[in-house]
Amino acid sequence: MLLKKAFFLFFLFTFVLPVYAFDIDEMLDGNGLSSGFTHFLRIGIKTDIVSFSLEGDAHVFNKKERAVGEIQGRVKVSAEQGGIKVGNRVFKEEMVKFTSELIPLKVEERMFRGEIEVYLKNAKLIVVNKLDIEDYVKGVINKEAIPSWPVEAKKTQAVLARTFAVYQKMFNPRSEFFDLAPTVLDQVYDGLGKEDVTSVEAVNATRGEIVTLGSDPAKIYFHSTCGGTISSSAEIWKKDEPHLQQLQCPYCTKSSLYRWKRKIKAAEIAKKLGVKSAKSVSTVRGKTRVDSVVVDGKKFPVNKFRELVGFSVIWSNDFTVTKSGSDFIFSGKGAGHGVGVCQWGMAGMAAQGKNHYEILKFYLKGIEVRKMY
Ligand SMILES: [Zn+2]
Repeated sequence: MLLKKAFFLFFLFTFVLPVYAFDIDEMLDGNGLSSGFTHFLRIGIKTDIVSFSLEGDAHVFNKKERAVGEIQGRVKVSAEQGGIKVGNRVFKEEMVKFTSELIPLKVEERMFRGEIEVYLKNAKLIVVNKLDIEDYVKGVINKEAIPSWPVEAKKTQAVLARTFAVYQKMFNPRSEFFDLAPTVLDQVYDGLGKEDVTSVEAVNATRGEIVTLGSDPAKIYFHSTCGGTISSSAEIWKKDEPHLQQLQCPYCTKSSLYRWKRKIKAAEIAKKLGVKSAKSVSTVRGKTRVDSVVVDGKKFPVNKFRELVGFSVIWSNDFTVTKSGSDFIFSGKGAGHGVGVCQWGMAGMAAQGKNHYEILKFYLKGIEVRKMY
């Protein structure tokens, strides 16, 4: 049994995990494309569905890149016994790919740049949008950032989004079919609709740039508002990462959640936590933030407590609690987990004239920004 496990691990580390077969240092010296790095990402936009509607003028290819047909206008794509049905035609294939030269394809009501790949697995479909990393970053940065932020803040967000995507693609792809999910699991992405002019400028101005730590893309974390103190990953996740250290951030005071207060009835807290009563609520603090919340002697890790009471009620893991009659008053600082880059802080730094390199180096210790291509 042990031997089997050892062999499995050997197999995993030798053949499966090194998914990048290109020279990483060469790639990070701006030779990414010539070193064999492909700057495409695969986003799993729909999984485990039986059908969806696709619209556009597109060629249809099979897995071997052979043209097998074309579509015009809107068609229904569905899983069939042993094939994929497109309009009235059944392709006896495990995968078909749609490419449109002129206009982006529409899946349901959303437009996507790049190609749409459809895989058949266990009589269900997996729909994947394969597109250039740069186009992906254009699609996500306004979902992650506030449209009115200064352009240097958007450039910072673009580099963070690109780094996150490259890291996931290289080290942590979601499945054999795609690198990233389109949701908060990774980064919220819903195609073309969210792009605006300054986001596109910010992406173009930072083309190919990612945050690196030594000779790897850095693992990226950011949050809305730190409230004054950035916490280390060692404190929050019990895992020390050299670039995720504690520091003071004086730049996020303009965030509406820099300080917040919420009054919640004791009965409501008990109901949300699934406990009988909430006569007393207190916090156990770590070095900079709340580690757990104790309700009538029962301990909840702070993230579990926030999840149950509501992430948009208890905005961060930095708060105090006081009792007032049958209510508890939560007085908090910031929004999010408090590790890595503070987004309102980066907007504050940009407003003070700092550029995106200075902003990234302020929040992430010992990193460099390098151009892959
Ligand atoms: Zn901050």
